[in-house]
Amino acid sequence: MNRPFNFSAGPAAMPQEVLTEAAAEMLDWHGSGMSVMEMSHRGQEFGIIYEQAQADLRELLAVPGDFKILFMQGGGLAENAIVPLNLSRGSTADFVVTGSWSQKSLNEACKYCTVNLAASNQADGHTTLPNPATWQLSRGASYVHICSNETIHGVEYHELPNLKTLGSDAPLVIDFSSHVASRPVDWSRVGLAFGGAQKNLGPAGLTLVVVRQDLLGQALPVCPSAFNYKTVADNQSMFNTPPTFAIYVAGLVFQWLKRQGGMPAMEARSKAKAALLYDAIDGSRLYFNKVAADCRSRMNVPFHLHDETLDAAFLAGARERGLLQLKGHKSVGGMRASIYNAMPIEGVQALVNYLREFEQTHA
Ligand SMILES: *Cc1c(COP(=O)(O)O)cnc(C)c1O
Repeated sequence: MNRPFNFSAGPAAMPQEVLTEAAAEMLDWHGSGMSVMEMSHRGQEFGIIYEQAQADLRELLAVPGDFKILFMQGGGLAENAIVPLNLSRGSTADFVVTGSWSQKSLNEACKYCTVNLAASNQADGHTTLPNPATWQLSRGASYVHICSNETIHGVEYHELPNLKTLGSDAPLVIDFSSHVASRPVDWSRVGLAFGGAQKNLGPAGLTLVVVRQDLLGQALPVCPSAFNYKTVADNQSMFNTPPTFAIYVAGLVFQWLKRQGGMPAMEARSKAKAALLYDAIDGSRLYFNKVAADCRSRMNVPFHLHDETLDAAFLAGARERGLLQLKGHKSVGGMRASIYNAMPIEGVQALVNYLREFEQTHA
């Protein structure tokens, strides 16, 4: 079946092989006589699915033994509250604002702790990455929050900051919702990472949290039990019913990622896809991207037409050619091509071909 190329920012395209597998197992998972969505989360069958997903993700992301992998709910936005509830100890948390998502995280954390804006790129319209050496980190901060890939503004840390060399002992918290599993993670620099699944891991409804064990057990007394990392960890993510079907499908994605060659392969592929698209944009006179070259996202590529009155025609032509969901986020306008793991290079090439064709007919 020849499906169109889907550039949605999230929920986003899934690997077709995974959709085919899930469809084949929909009515009867491995001879159990049940769909995964009909199984008890405490039953033997789901236990197998859960353990396999945990093990595969740990292997894929090379998560060290002193980190817990939690399968939660509530999405990235709920984590903006859950993180300070668990880690702030009521004291100050540092935030680096590089776009809409880190700004939202800061705003939400204000309800639970004192926040310090350590650095911001607001002055340049969220198009650069403030040099870590200039961050105003507070002494004794409970944690330092960054969004390692800004899905809306298209700004990505190509390397995670090393807080120790910046004179901070605080754990680094990263919101990696929109580039998780697109490259390896340097866990020696991270205390906690969280992300909604619907960008690069699977269906909406599952939220991934990877947390260093020594950060567990210091939640504020008002923290809801279902959102207390220690409670979730002590109960293997089954304090309450986890999003079972989303975990199962994400597990199929983990196996697909392993078959592709894991993180080194995905990183190489992401670099190649992003370079193809940015080169086409930079080489044109019709389109432009505002983000500084050293922090351009390899997953979310926002771009604009110099003449906005052509936007509607551009999108209509794209749809006709099977290039879906390219409209930019309403806060920045223009276009956005999200090119997550499930987007093959052929899809990016098809978009690049269309960019050229449209430019030729509208220059
Ligand atoms: C999509 C996204 C979120 C929000 O996730 P929800 O699941 O809608 O709560 C948070 N952070 C980043 C970086 C995102 O891309």
